[in-house]
Amino acid sequence: MDDPLLSVENLHTQFDTRDGTVRAVDGVSFDVDRGETVCLVGESGSGKTVTCESVTRLIPTPPGEVTDGRIVFDGDDLTEYSEKRLRNVRGNRIAHVFQNPQNALDPVYTVGAQIVETMQFHRDVGDAAARRRAIDLLERVGIPKASTRVDDYPHEFSGGMRQRAVIAMALASDPDLLIADEPTTALDVTIEAQILDLLADLQAERDMAVLFVTHDLGVVAEIADRVVIMYAGKVMERGDVHDVFDQPSHPYTQALLDCLPGQGTELRPIEGSLADPVDPPDGCRFHPRCPHATEACRREGQPPLHAVANGQRASCVYYGSDRDASTVLDGPAASQEVNDD
Ligand code: SF4
Repeated sequence: MDDPLLSVENLHTQFDTRDGTVRAVDGVSFDVDRGETVCLVGESGSGKTVTCESVTRLIPTPPGEVTDGRIVFDGDDLTEYSEKRLRNVRGNRIAHVFQNPQNALDPVYTVGAQIVETMQFHRDVGDAAARRRAIDLLERVGIPKASTRVDDYPHEFSGGMRQRAVIAMALASDPDLLIADEPTTALDVTIEAQILDLLADLQAERDMAVLFVTHDLGVVAEIADRVVIMYAGKVMERGDVHDVFDQPSHPYTQALLDCLPGQGTELRPIEGSLADPVDPPDGCRFHPRCPHATEACRREGQPPLHAVANGQRASCVYYGSDRDASTVLDGPAASQEVNDD
């Protein structure tokens, strides 16, 4: 089997704040293969965005810093790259799309000029061909009359159109890996579907890998090959999307899926609030909100990612060899049964 295109190994990223050190990403590991889509999922503050920004060192330093771990991209550890070397990877082999298009577009240049510039910065392509490709990309992301709108300035585009232009710009360099952080959140469902279709087409055409951050499990179900569920800077569960949706194994994944409308039950918000990022709970980080938490969950560290089945893994004590996983999979909530040891 081929090596993964991207391997995030035991990544630690922290921020020094006035309130103390925030361990935003605390020992996160996952792979992304060529041509596949991996979705990072979790509530706000789970560390999804910081994980993505750590890959090409986009986190503001200081106050942020990658303190440990490896980010192996196509065989090379990016944490060992100089800033100069990393600039040749960023926007070229690895492209980012963020939620807010304002930060990515320069108001004094036309949209087309910015797409052309991105293309020509990384590729040897003439002006006419680059312009044709810019128009093609704008058409493909759903900009009407792209051949004339290519000469518009960003302020002449609506918010949704600007976001689509940013996606076109990211695709202009034919990246091997596209990191997309909630790129469709601000778009209406029709345009969102169009963008997701476009990404799927491009993956098929170019074997492009996508690391996609979202809190929308409907989008995950539609586009993901694999899913990584994050909570309070840690991976709670990861696996093939079908396995995770068919049999959510970690109580946090179960709670997220229970929040989805159309599950046959009323929408159920997850009880409790997110962990304090400066002073997260000891033991399993999810224990204050977990209906199955036992004394061991509060006392011991975050459980390892135990194998569940078919490569599916869950960071929960119940998947250890000495426990009965059926308690979590289909048993009643055990929060009051503090009798495990
Ligand atoms: S049962 Fe314990 S280890 Fe498993 S998710 Fe709940 S609190 Fe964490």
